[in-house]
Amino acid sequence: MRNDCMQRLLNWWKCVQTWMERWFPAMRLMREQMLPHNQAVLSELDTIHAEVREALEPEEQLEAINAISSLRHAWNNMVSELRLLVANRFGVFSSEASAGMRSRMVNIGYYSEEVPGYLQTLRTMVDSNRLGFIGPEALDVLDRHHRDWINASKQLITLLDNPGWRVDLVILTESIDPLLEKMRQRLSALDLELDKQSAQDITQLTKTARTLSFSILGIAFFGILLITFAYIFLNRTLLRPIAETAMALKQEAQGVLDITPPPASLQETANLVEAFNEMRKQVHMRQQHLDHMAHHDALTRLPNRVLFRDRLEHALKIAAREGRLIGLMFLDLDRFKQVNDSLGHLVGDELLKIVAERLRALTRESDTVARLSGDEFAVLVEGINERDDMIPLAEKMLEALEQPIEIAEHELRITVSVGIAMAPLDDVVADNLIRDADTAMYSAKQQGRAAYRFFTDEMTHVVAESLQLENEIRSAVENGEFLFHFQPVVSLRNGELYCCEALMRWQHSEKGLLAPEVFLDVLDDTGLITSIIDTLLDQASNHREKLSKKLGREIAVSVNLSARLMNDPAFCRGLLKRLVAREFPLGSLVLEITEDTLTRELAEANEFLQQVKNLGAKIALDDFGVGQASLSHLRQFPFDLVKIDRDFISNVHSDANDANLVRAIIQLAHAFGMQVVAEGVETEQQLAFVRAQGCDYIQGYLVGVPADSGQVVACLSAGQNGSLLAT
Ligand code: C2E
Ligand code: CA
Ligand code: CA
Repeated sequence: MRNDCMQRLLNWWKCVQTWMERWFPAMRLMREQMLPHNQAVLSELDTIHAEVREALEPEEQLEAINAISSLRHAWNNMVSELRLLVANRFGVFSSEASAGMRSRMVNIGYYSEEVPGYLQTLRTMVDSNRLGFIGPEALDVLDRHHRDWINASKQLITLLDNPGWRVDLVILTESIDPLLEKMRQRLSALDLELDKQSAQDITQLTKTARTLSFSILGIAFFGILLITFAYIFLNRTLLRPIAETAMALKQEAQGVLDITPPPASLQETANLVEAFNEMRKQVHMRQQHLDHMAHHDALTRLPNRVLFRDRLEHALKIAAREGRLIGLMFLDLDRFKQVNDSLGHLVGDELLKIVAERLRALTRESDTVARLSGDEFAVLVEGINERDDMIPLAEKMLEALEQPIEIAEHELRITVSVGIAMAPLDDVVADNLIRDADTAMYSAKQQGRAAYRFFTDEMTHVVAESLQLENEIRSAVENGEFLFHFQPVVSLRNGELYCCEALMRWQHSEKGLLAPEVFLDVLDDTGLITSIIDTLLDQASNHREKLSKKLGREIAVSVNLSARLMNDPAFCRGLLKRLVAREFPLGSLVLEITEDTLTRELAEANEFLQQVKNLGAKIALDDFGVGQASLSHLRQFPFDLVKIDRDFISNVHSDANDANLVRAIIQLAHAFGMQVVAEGVETEQQLAFVRAQGCDYIQGYLVGVPADSGQVVACLSAGQNGSLLAT
């Protein structure tokens, strides 16, 4: 088994050796020749050395042993150098021996020259028998092996110098290198071919690109040319006419008047231009219409406040330049609101139109009549020389407007209050002048309406005071400061209380109790009366009830009615409701109306009075005698009572006329079946006179002053049945 393994190992080793020798041909020479010669030389030296030690005396050995050692040393160096040369050869692939190999060869040469020297030294020792008896034969063997080894080493060096010293290198240089070279050449040829090809391609591409650029440039040029022509064409036929139309529109919007319509070459643009012209006309018309609307009053077609102000400013400039006067009239219709409230807005509108026409008819073409608002009108009179020139016109206006106005079936009588301001006498600023004329108008109203007034500086204070009073009255209304005082009306037949007249008072927080003359007009004019009348009627009703209860019989209460209230539908409805509800039993409510109230809208008043009369109220004609058409009024309406104004009563003893008048009134009233109340009876004589004339009732300080409900009730003693007079 062990032999088997050894055998296999040997076989394998042989295989390796064979393969090594094929690959490295010098191997065989080294193994088969040089190695044995080397071993032989070294072994022979060992043998000689041992012979010398054995055969020679110690003192003779030293020289021989030195010579043998030197030879061995030189031999070993030579062999080592050759081995290093072989090792070096393995490190160099090129066919040329390296520097390392060359230095080895020099060393080998050096030692190979030393070796024969030492051999010669040993031979002389042989000759002198200083190497024992084996010396001569041993030296011959040494010589031979030395020679053979030298020859083999030369062969080895030659082999190693040969390109085939290593078989793989031969394959490398003979087969692979040429193939590589070929491939390299092919590759560089391919490289060249590719370079050439790409150069050709680039040239071709450059050519194509250039052609393409030229084509694109050409197309672009033609495109631009085409667009330019198209633009020129479009510009001429479409764009320019549109732009010109747009410009004309812009000018139109900026108010340029002289606009030439743009020319048109195409049908479409011609249509556009035509449409523009049409639109321009329409815009002009609408503008004029709007302008007119913005500066005129739609109802009367008179200039409005804006236009009036413009004209006034213009007139002020001219007047300043020419040194002439301007008259400004401010007109306000008296009690217009009542017409509106009672007869409706349509009648009110008609009335305003007629007033406008009458004013227009009275003025010159150069004057401006304007409607400032509601029932306010203004007249601008230019080019006058003195203030008094305004008087005839103002009088004509008052007169013209007082003429009855017929609207539908109504016959209306209207008056106007006029304020006049003069420029530059009163002011030279338009707004101030309007304000002054307004103040003068207000003053005319305060002084009884239906009149004209020239503006004066004092008016400003009066008007300011009036306005302050108005404000005070408004807050007094809110605070409930108005109340009724009651004044007895006594029957002359039995001396007993017949009725109490309700007279309004203002319980002022600082000024105390104020009489109607202070506040009544304002309450009436502003319409504030309508908001307090209900509370006042409640007071009258309560007073009547208390008094009736105390005296045990029905006592009447009389209430004064202004035209304003009679024309207020809400008030009329409320009063009729109270009567229907029997809040005032039959005959226990007397409504006092002045002739002044009846002069207006008699028909409407008639209807209302008839209704309240039918519901059991009595109607008294108040302040009889001071009015203008008293007698006709007596005929027109069936009054229950006539109250003779206290002015006549106070004069019955001093003025025979008044005495006759009082007598006549009493007789006349009786003739119409009406009873008579003498107002303001203060003295026994007055009492005696009216009693003698057959007067039915008296009212006056003689029988009782107005006092609050509590006082009146308290002072009437139930026992006397309310007797206030001895009959
Ligand atoms: P009128 O209707 O003629 O009322 C009578 C006025 O004469 C009252 O004045 C009264 O105080 C006063 N008087 C009565 N007896 C005498 C007398 O012997 N001598 C004098 N000198 N005067 C006497 P008053 O209260 O100042 O009222 C004044 C006017 O105010 C009233 O006159 C009436 O027209 C009006 N008035 C008063 N209250 C109202 C009211 O509630 N509504 C309306 N519409 N008018 C009223
Ligand atoms: Ca009265
Ligand atoms: Ca009266």
